[in-house]
Amino acid sequence: MNSIAFQDLRESDKRYLPEIEEAVVGVLRTGRYLNGEQTAAFEQELGELLEAGEAVACSNGLDALRLILESYIALGRLQRGDEVIVPANTFVATLLSVSHSGLTPVVAEPSESDFNLDLSRLPIGKKTRGIIPVHLYGTPCWDREKMEEARRRGLIVIEDNAQAIGARAREEGFNGTDKTGSLGDASAISFYPAKNIGAAGDAGAVATSDPELARMVRKLRNYGSEKKYEHEYLGHNCRMDEIQAAVLRVKLRHLDEETEARRRRARQYDREITNPLIRKPEIRDDALQVWHQYVVRTPERDRLRAYLKEAGIGTEIHYPIPVHKQKCYAGGGGNLKLGAGPACPVAEKLAREILSLPIANATESEIEYITSVINRFS
Ligand SMILES: *Cc1c(COP(=O)(O)O)cnc(C)c1O
Repeated sequence: MNSIAFQDLRESDKRYLPEIEEAVVGVLRTGRYLNGEQTAAFEQELGELLEAGEAVACSNGLDALRLILESYIALGRLQRGDEVIVPANTFVATLLSVSHSGLTPVVAEPSESDFNLDLSRLPIGKKTRGIIPVHLYGTPCWDREKMEEARRRGLIVIEDNAQAIGARAREEGFNGTDKTGSLGDASAISFYPAKNIGAAGDAGAVATSDPELARMVRKLRNYGSEKKYEHEYLGHNCRMDEIQAAVLRVKLRHLDEETEARRRRARQYDREITNPLIRKPEIRDDALQVWHQYVVRTPERDRLRAYLKEAGIGTEIHYPIPVHKQKCYAGGGGNLKLGAGPACPVAEKLAREILSLPIANATESEIEYITSVINRFS
């Protein structure tokens, strides 16, 4: 067996290349590179897919989160200094969006069972005004009961849907859908190339059923302006390129088959890994997981990773350092607060034990090889 890369973007895009080429050349022929037909059509299609009232295309996932938070501030629904709960085991962008907006990220523990925010012990305090659940690795994380509590307490819920496009939760939320990205008040998505749907560069989007919020996001995305050369807010330039929108429209058409392939690979890993030293992720039958990552656990993680590398198998760790241990946040940088006490033992333990196996484009026979190697690990 040749070596197996953790992920190969060229391989993922190969089958769609003729369609992507046509889409890109189509944009070049129009000479319209921003704020055009492609972006408008993409927003319409993404909004329908997420069953959200509205989608607003933007520059990347971090900017999507920031545009949401800054919009809430501009609308007077969040104030600088307010506290927002975030998981300790997310990608740093989730927290950066909070810090950049002058808000205070309060770090919470994940649950050992599904790696997602532990909803049974959210550190909701007197100054908490928002929660950002992250549907980590493509597993939905949020429920109706928590949303009811959030509404009762006047908390804003922003889903970080960067890893979970197309996923469905256990039950319908307040917006009458079980699609992640439409379970809270607003959501952010990333089309970073390695995500389940990736652009040919950076791209992201906001989704919300709140028209007032969507309108403010549109203004802040475009220099704080709705009317050319009239600037109401200290806005940004966070637009999506027409070329990216055109590429993403092609890929959105293939989302279901991509998701099904990831689910098939996850089921194969689940069937074929039998080594008792390896703890497999839970496959839920009451929700639709989209397997952005397939993450196994073992206290012998570093040894397993080296052993797989020796056998030519690429792996990754998502993420090796919990956010509160990052240099930029250590010692209370970025306004960070620990919600669970002086440490996050669960997140810290997970960071030592988790390992992501190839899922983006591994073939059936590659997974057979990977699992046979894993089963011989001792
Ligand atoms: C990728 C990612 C982001 C940031 O998206 P970018 O498009 O890279 O800015 C935010 N949150 C999570 C959970 C992510 O995985």
